[in-house]
Amino acid sequence: MAKISPKSKAARPGAKKSKPGIRAEAQKASGGFTELEKNILLSKGMSAKQIEKLAAQGVQGKKDLKHIGDAGTLAELAALPPKVAEQVMSWALGLTATPAKDSIVVQAGDVVLCVHCNAKQPKDYKSGDLCGACGKQAEPIMACFWCGATGPGKFCRQCGAEFVPTGELELGILLKREGLPKHEIPAQLRSMSQAEKDSLWGRARRY
Ligand SMILES: [Zn+2]
Ligand SMILES: [Zn+2]
Repeated sequence: MAKISPKSKAARPGAKKSKPGIRAEAQKASGGFTELEKNILLSKGMSAKQIEKLAAQGVQGKKDLKHIGDAGTLAELAALPPKVAEQVMSWALGLTATPAKDSIVVQAGDVVLCVHCNAKQPKDYKSGDLCGACGKQAEPIMACFWCGATGPGKFCRQCGAEFVPTGELELGILLKREGLPKHEIPAQLRSMSQAEKDSLWGRARRY
C-alpha cells in the first residue's frame, strides 16, 4: 500500500535536453582546428588521430601549419607519410589554390586595332570591315606569298594561304619556290630564328 511507484526520472519536467556545448567539447579534443580545417585535413589523408597528435604538438590551425613551413618538418612532427604531409602543406601554404597568372591573359590576339587611327574595333568586327572611327579599312591589306592576291585579314581569300608578315613576304615567296607546301610556309617563318631569316634573305636577294 505504501508502495507508490517511484517518481520516474523521465517524468521530471525539468529534464535537461541536449546542450549545445558538445560540439565545442569535440572541437577542443583536436585542438584549435575548426570543423572545416579538420575535414580538409581528413580529405588530405590525415587520420583523426594524427590531427589530434598535431594539435598536441601545438599546431592549432592552418596558421600554425604555415608556420611549420615545409612538408618534411610536418611529417616528422605528426608522424605523417611524406605524401600526406606534402598535400597538407601545399593546402596550408595555398600552393594548389593559386591559379597560374598567365591563364588570365585576355585574348589579346583577337583585338583588332585600326592601322590608320588605332581605334579598337567592335567585337563583331570581321576582316575587311571599315573602321568605325575613321572609315578606312581597319586592317592592313596583305599580299599573299602564294598566289599574289591581296586582301585584309589573316588568310588569303583566293587560295586560303595564311598571310605572312608584310616584311617577310619575299621570304614566303622564296620558300614557295624552294618547294615548301603552302600551309607549312607561315609556320616555317614563325619558327625561324633571326639568323636563319638573315641567311634566307641572302638567298632571296639572288633571285
Ligand atoms: Zn580607324
Ligand atoms: Zn593566296
